[in-house]
Amino acid sequence: MTPEQVRDYLQYYRDLGIETIYRAAPPPASSATTVMAPIPLLEIAPQGDTLAKIREDIGDCKRCRLCETRNKIVFGSGNETSPLVFVGEGPGADEDEQGLPFVGRAGQLLTQMIENTAAKEGMQLKRADVYICNVVKCRPPDNRTPQPDEMEICGQFLFRQLTAIKPKAICVLGATAMKALLNTKEGITKSRGQWHKWRDIPVMITYHPSYLLRQYNAQAKREAWEDLKTLLHFVYD
Ligand code: URA
Repeated sequence: MTPEQVRDYLQYYRDLGIETIYRAAPPPASSATTVMAPIPLLEIAPQGDTLAKIREDIGDCKRCRLCETRNKIVFGSGNETSPLVFVGEGPGADEDEQGLPFVGRAGQLLTQMIENTAAKEGMQLKRADVYICNVVKCRPPDNRTPQPDEMEICGQFLFRQLTAIKPKAICVLGATAMKALLNTKEGITKSRGQWHKWRDIPVMITYHPSYLLRQYNAQAKREAWEDLKTLLHFVYD
């Protein structure tokens, strides 16, 4: 690339609100919305970062191809000062329509898992008391798994959310969130039920509620309840 091309290229991304670029591919010649600019994962979130600022920075995001098919950006919901944050994969059809995470069938199961486990353990905890968000904020078409570049681009906002909330623990739901937050090569079956760390924050890994819905798997269900029990006692005792 000539210096002029490099300058235009950097300006192109700046105009999209992307300030820091590395390993970036040249802007596509033909499409204004398909923008594939791998963004460095922020080492440190901006000083005084807040969820409102993060949402504002996301804006009407066009940083990756998921913007082309999404309906609503699903940022997150719940108690913004919660000591516990749940991280899923990405919005499905119901979430895309409502702009809220985990409101479909998997969401109903997640609500039951949180509230019923808490009640059984003698805790007064409602879903609204925790914070829930996803790795990617836009629905992948046909609910496919998010691609690595989509996770990398959107992951920076998840990292900022977690840094701003600074919870006592994070619950990772399923393999995609596990990949986004933890550098583990193990599968979900081996990693679940164990404590890991994201930066300095303890992370509990468990099955994604959609997995528990997909097949009747009594063993996996029992394990997920056990994981939540351990997690809730750690956070709320
Ligand atoms: N599955 C997810 O991972 N997240 C949602 O918000 C809904 C379903």
